Amino acid sequence: MSVSKPDILVIGGGPAGSTFGNLAVQQGWDVALLEKDEHPRFHIGESLLPMTMPIVERLGLWQDLERIGVRKNGADFTTFRRGAYHHTYPFSRALGDSPDHAFQVRRSEFDEMLYEKCRDVGVDVRDRNTVTKVEELGGGKHRVTSVDANGVESVWEPKFLVDASGRDTFLSGANGWKQRNPQHASAAVFGHFRGVRRRADENEGDISIYWFEHGWVWMIPLRDDVMSVGAVCDPDYIKSRRESLDEFLLKTVNRMVGTRSRMRDAVQDRPAQATGNYSYLSSRMMGPGYLMIGDAFAFIDPVFSSGVHLAMSSAARGIAVAGAWLEGDARKYRKACRDYEQETKRGIDTFAWFIYRFRSPTMSWLFSNPRNPLRLVEGVVSMLAGDVFTNRSVRRRLLVFKAVYAIASVLLRARVISESSGSRPRSTRNMREA
Ligand SMILES: Cc1cc2nc3c(=O)[nH]c(=O)nc-3n(C[C@H](O)[C@H](O)[C@H](O)COP(=O)(O)OP(=O)(O)OC[C@H]3O[C@@H](n4cnc5c(N)ncnc54)[C@H](O)[C@@H]3O)c2cc1C
Repeated sequence: MSVSKPDILVIGGGPAGSTFGNLAVQQGWDVALLEKDEHPRFHIGESLLPMTMPIVERLGLWQDLERIGVRKNGADFTTFRRGAYHHTYPFSRALGDSPDHAFQVRRSEFDEMLYEKCRDVGVDVRDRNTVTKVEELGGGKHRVTSVDANGVESVWEPKFLVDASGRDTFLSGANGWKQRNPQHASAAVFGHFRGVRRRADENEGDISIYWFEHGWVWMIPLRDDVMSVGAVCDPDYIKSRRESLDEFLLKTVNRMVGTRSRMRDAVQDRPAQATGNYSYLSSRMMGPGYLMIGDAFAFIDPVFSSGVHLAMSSAARGIAVAGAWLEGDARKYRKACRDYEQETKRGIDTFAWFIYRFRSPTMSWLFSNPRNPLRLVEGVVSMLAGDVFTNRSVRRRLLVFKAVYAIASVLLRARVISESSGSRPRSTRNMREA
């Protein structure tokens, strides 16, 4: 059997893999990409972040994105304590120069657009081609076996291997590197509806997030009057389901005043689907001759719509790692790996800090009562915009936010204790009234 030897072989043609493929060809490298599915295909994850927009531009796809997307100017949050009232965070308030908007997209269209662009720019793209085996040959060399739709095997020995296999986590799963986060074991149920009420005017395309006692709900406006509606819930709540998935989704969404009123005239457009939503992290991110990007390396709860941004930005930063390897300079490669790992983990950790506290009473209170000492709101908006890797002023504001969170937690706890003992301290009275 003949063996193909491209500079780069990418496993997976989602946002991470297609971004890497496109940018790698722009470097003048010979690139092959294997995708087990065929585009267009449904994928969940429809809300993009402003900081992804410069990457889309580098891929030469800005106008195509405008054509398929709904403009998203911000995100709004409603806590279950506040019923129908929401608070909007417009991206125009972000610190620094992150774009003031992003887009909501059908992933079938978005992923196909990225993937087909790879083909156009010269990536050797093969759909319905599943990677079945990766063997390490030593010295950073790998032999990869793939099987096409007719069962025909191919063998590849790339100079550099990129795993962008998403939640299939090809390398980390096969090597026992995948570490699940048992504290973040949730499941998601979602579907598409028509006739759901949108926010007014410039907020028409914003994502809405609603807290409730068993999790949170998203509403993402798509083109043609379609709304993506989904709930991320505790496993126990999901296990309590006795009805069909469609009925369960509606029952869940109708638990909240705000969502119930927006769904009054809703007609289901796409049957509900469910997926496990375990957060995980691979104990390795790269090694000699290979790199993992996007969900193939880590997955965190999608409440801040971070997944596609983490996927595409890790691909864009990963080009430097592959470049250093192809140059054959070991010192440069080690440095590129260190920089890449530090930045990638910093971005993930920033989102994760908020996610792991997202359902705490303190975070719910802070998000729905945003005062603005020290421009904290701008810091939070920058996080929501995806500016989580290098911007120092954002990092400083987020540090202050963390301090405010710690103080508010103590105050809220003191209030709970004093309420249960019959007295309420004056200093915290405003929290309830707000
Ligand atoms: C419930 C839920 C809601 C979400 N909401 C959002 C959101 O609003 N915004 C957001 O940004 N993110 C969201 N996400 C996360 C987002 O969907 C992912 O983070 C994103 O798709 C990651 O991109 P990726 O390219 O790494 O992986 P994927 O998009 O999953 O792409 C991986 C590709 O690899 C292919 N593949 C896998 N194994 C092989 C193999 N062996 N051989 C060949 N090909 C293979 C797959 O077919 C797939 O096409 C959500 C996720 C969930 C679960």
